[in-house]
Amino acid sequence: MAKVLKPNILFLGIDSLRRDHLSCYGYPRRTSPYIDQLAAEGTLFEDSFSPHIPTPPGYAGMLCGRDVFGTDRVSLREKGPIMDSIPTLPEMLRELGYRSVGVGLDTWLVKGFDEYHGFPGSWGPWEDRPLRKAEELNKVTFPIMDRLAKVKEPWMLFLRHMDPHAPYLPPAPYDGLFYQGDPCAPGNRSMDPVFAFKPFAEFLKSWMPPGITDKEYVIAQYDGEVAYMDACIQQLFERLRALGQWENTLIVITADHGETLYDHGIFFDHHSMYEPTLLVPMIYRWPGHAPAGKRVRGMVQLMDIVPSILDLMGWQDMTARQKFDGKSVWPLQRGEAPENYAEMLITECTWMRKHGWRTHEWKFIEALEPDFHGLPKRELYNLINDPGESVNLADAEVDVCRLLRKRMLAHIAKRTAETGRPDPIERFKLGLGLSIGSVATAKKLQEKK
Ligand SMILES: [Zn+2]
Repeated sequence: MAKVLKPNILFLGIDSLRRDHLSCYGYPRRTSPYIDQLAAEGTLFEDSFSPHIPTPPGYAGMLCGRDVFGTDRVSLREKGPIMDSIPTLPEMLRELGYRSVGVGLDTWLVKGFDEYHGFPGSWGPWEDRPLRKAEELNKVTFPIMDRLAKVKEPWMLFLRHMDPHAPYLPPAPYDGLFYQGDPCAPGNRSMDPVFAFKPFAEFLKSWMPPGITDKEYVIAQYDGEVAYMDACIQQLFERLRALGQWENTLIVITADHGETLYDHGIFFDHHSMYEPTLLVPMIYRWPGHAPAGKRVRGMVQLMDIVPSILDLMGWQDMTARQKFDGKSVWPLQRGEAPENYAEMLITECTWMRKHGWRTHEWKFIEALEPDFHGLPKRELYNLINDPGESVNLADAEVDVCRLLRKRMLAHIAKRTAETGRPDPIERFKLGLGLSIGSVATAKKLQEKK
């Protein structure tokens, strides 16, 4: 068997970072110059999906290499950690002597790290602005990096940045980087529908400028958070260089899910299964191992990351033992596989309980409870003709709906038979009486143990 390589691993699992607001993914605003530079030195996957919304299935998938049936985690309302029989990446790496540290997560999200560290300052109302989330994360992380650099064993450091997660209150100059107008300009009605959506109105008002009328201001604050975080991430990279660990560290950048800013009547949040929430960045940098300057098309998923890391390390033995649901992205990158997926199950269990089926051409969505936004039980979009998913064809294309639904149900039946457990989405009932409330209640829900 080939020798297993043991690079250090710096894994950035950013919360709520949508792919298309990074400049390396084509966003016209230059939000991410340092991540762009890293991507140019590594391999970037263009069509990377977080198919299971929201946060708990996102992190479970990216660190277990499994889908929602494999991890049995599909909802924000999960109780307890991932089951013992499913190892996480840090637990696997322990076999090779790795030390693992997680910053910004806890055992409720992902078990198995040697150490967990929190960082303050991710939540706050308008009066507490600015929030300095990434600087707070760096303050906790720098001493850990210094300490890890001194130990003989290889290490894995996992960081969960919260900057693109609401509230979007970046410090200067990032709050003004992409906006020079008047956020409270009289006559601008663009925030009317935002505040008309009662379940979110109180929370959103609590961290926005009083009297705000212009949605573009809020979108610019999201972009400002990304740019601020990008600059702080560069400080992490500089630290790695200073510690002499830049070349022998595999850096992975991804997100647990994207963010919907103003589309589909969903405001500054990450629920639903429309493209802004499903598509996330996926970037690998490890000089001499992850090919430099490559951009790869074809659908891949968060659950592909663990097998892809193990593949780069040459640890196929672990992959064979684990039988992951995901698969390595490197055969796709080398052109040896046409694609990792031609179609996939998508789920959401945040404010709505839904599942669906996405192919290259179509997206089918089925609500398992009455829709939070009053949308119909079934939606169908042609992603080629209507990439913005604005025309619901469910009534016009009944046969397509039927075919996609059949394929979705067959996949669910196959996976539940394989795991011997029921479909995890059936364990939850959400109802329509949900609302976020204040910043304090939002924080409590997000950090629920
Ligand atoms: Zn999240």
